[in-house]
Order: sequence, then C-alpha cells, then structure tokens
Amino acid sequence: MKTKIVIVDENKIDAAVIEEAGQILKQGGLVAFPTETVYGLGGNALNETSSAKIYEAKGRPSDNPLIVHIAHMDFLAAIVEEIPDEAYKLAEKYWPGPLTMIFKKSGLVPYATTGGLETVAVRMPAHKTAQALIKAAGGYVAAPSANRSGRPSPTIAKYVIEDLDGRVDMIIDGGEVNIGLESTIIDLSGENPMLLRPGYITEEMLRETVGDVEVDRTLLDSGSKEAPKAPGMKYRHYAPKGSLAVVEGTQQDVVSYINQKIEESRSQGLKTGVIATDESADSYLADVVKSVGSRKDENAIARHLFRILREFDEESVQVMYAESFASQGIGQAIMNRLLKAAGHHVISVTDDNNE
Ligand code: AMP
Ligand code: MG
Repeated sequence: MKTKIVIVDENKIDAAVIEEAGQILKQGGLVAFPTETVYGLGGNALNETSSAKIYEAKGRPSDNPLIVHIAHMDFLAAIVEEIPDEAYKLAEKYWPGPLTMIFKKSGLVPYATTGGLETVAVRMPAHKTAQALIKAAGGYVAAPSANRSGRPSPTIAKYVIEDLDGRVDMIIDGGEVNIGLESTIIDLSGENPMLLRPGYITEEMLRETVGDVEVDRTLLDSGSKEAPKAPGMKYRHYAPKGSLAVVEGTQQDVVSYINQKIEESRSQGLKTGVIATDESADSYLADVVKSVGSRKDENAIARHLFRILREFDEESVQVMYAESFASQGIGQAIMNRLLKAAGHHVISVTDDNNE
C-alpha cells in the first residue's frame, strides 16, 4: 500500500486534506493523525472491517480493545447504553481532553472494535486536527496509538512513518504532540468509578470531580499476577531493544550506583545509556546520556519520555538505566510507562545495594 503523507497545521487546517482523509475513513481505510496525547491510528469505529484493519496494521492482539474518538457530546448517546452522572461531570471538566471513559456499549458498536467486550472506551480529543478529522469521517473514529504493537507510542510523525508507512492509507503530520502520554482511562461501567490507566488527568483530579475513585490493583502492585482491567495494560509495552532498569534512591546514591554498573557493562564491551534529568545529566559516564527534562517540569518529562526511548533504540544502546520519579500527580503516569518499558525491573539503592 502506498501511504500518502501530508502536513497539517492545527492552527491553519487545510480543509481539502481533512475532507480527503475523512473520505478514506468513511470508505473503510486507515488514517494516522495527531492528537494532544500521542498520534492515533484511525479507522471507522462502527465498521468491523476497519477495526480489523487497525489490528492488522499495528500487529495488535485482537483482544485489546480500541478507544472510540468523538468530536461532540451529542454523538455519545448512540454508542453507549447509558450515560452515568459521573460522565457528565467529567466531560464538563475534561472533554475535550486527555480522558477516556468506559461505558456499557450500545448495539451500534461492533465487538471487533471493543475486543469482544460489552463495554466501549470513548474519548473526545482537544486537538483541532483530530476534531476536524472525526467530523469529516462521520463522527466515530477508533484510534489506538499509531505505533506497531509493543513499541513506544509516537509523539512525532517521524515515528508513525517508521512504524506504519506502507500499512495505512494516509499519515497526517501535525508536529510534536503536547502531552506525550496516552489518555487517562476511567471505567464508569461498574459500581464505582475505577482508574484503569493513569495519565495527564490525575487520580487527584478525578477524585475532585466524582468523589471516590477505585484504582485497578494491577497498577499499584507491579508484581501482580492478576489481569489488568484494561486488557491492553497486560502486554509488554514500549520495550526498548536493549535492557532497561529503573533505579530509585537519593540522587547521589542513584548516580553512583548507575555509574558503577555502567563501568561493568562497558568493560564487557556493551554500549550503555542513561535516562537522566537536567539536574543530573552531567554526572553520568555512560556512552549515551539523555535528559527527559527538568524535575521542575513534569509535563516536559511526560512529553519527552517515549521519544527518548526510541532514540536509545536508534543509537543501538544495549544496557540502559533510568532514574525514577515520584508517583504523585502526572508522575504516576510517567512511572507507569517507565516501569512497563523496564518490564518492572526496579533497583532500590537507598538502604542497601540489593537488586
Ligand atoms: P491505546 O489505544 O494504545 O491507547 O490503548 C487503548 C487502551 O484502552 C488499552 O489499554 C485498552 O485495553 C483500553 N481499553 C479500550 N477499551 C476498553 C474497554 N472497553 N475496557 C477496558 N479497557 C479498554
Ligand atoms: Mg498503545
């Protein structure tokens, strides 16, 4: 398949390009596009053949459901069984925006889109290009992150092209995304609201709006053998090609531990890397040291994390260490993604040096 690659500026949207992209989606084709979280791989959410094509293009296991994107609240009722009060409250505050809500699905949504589940995940993105595309496509666009399954979600079009060129009809390049981590997912289909995936909209923000929010236990306990409630969370994600461990402790202990490990790997002829911060980057002796940003700006850390994981792959780094982050606020989402990338390999160095 020949993939058409176009550039669209969110602040000066080319209506003809969006019209063409919308037609592709209406006819069952695939279009990758920017959102404020990460790039999405879009297909018509109400067409099971389109959803099947998404799984195929991503190489994604078909039990991992897709998020349906809408551009207006009026479109919600048709795809869900009921809209609970919490949904109105959350939509009022955080839609359009980086929040996905899970509802009981209506008959309009095919099981091919929900991975066989009776529930459907819905988000209204804030990105203007995404909104225009959803409208041009008829209102319902299923869109998982636009990466090949297992790779970090793309935050710039270059990585969408790397993963999906030749596999989709069109890729819309809208530059670097704003948030850089996938949406927060909250399940409203059960007794109580439950957080299934942390993101830019934090647990604290959700509680402020709807009161008590349960948290999927598998998010808290990294060693849990239980299956996560969001099926996609069980898969190894974002895995870099080299090995990655997250090191936690005081900055001084972390730096000296990592440098000692780097020396060992170096002496074995391995290429080494460190995911550092602006505050610490100068202290490391690795072959490749990259800062994800300043600890004073966690939003910047969120925005850069996936790009940096890909850059380590591009530079063929074999052994990597990352600093760890406080897991409050957006830090919860940052640590969730980092720990997945590391396959939950965490080394604590503050008390003793055991692994
Ligand atoms: P992505 O599109 O790559 O951001 O992944 C979508 C995430 O949403 C995956 O982790 C899915 O498992 C999760 N998800 C989508 N629909 C549902 C649903 N109905 N119930 C639970 N999780 C869902
Ligand atoms: Mg994904």
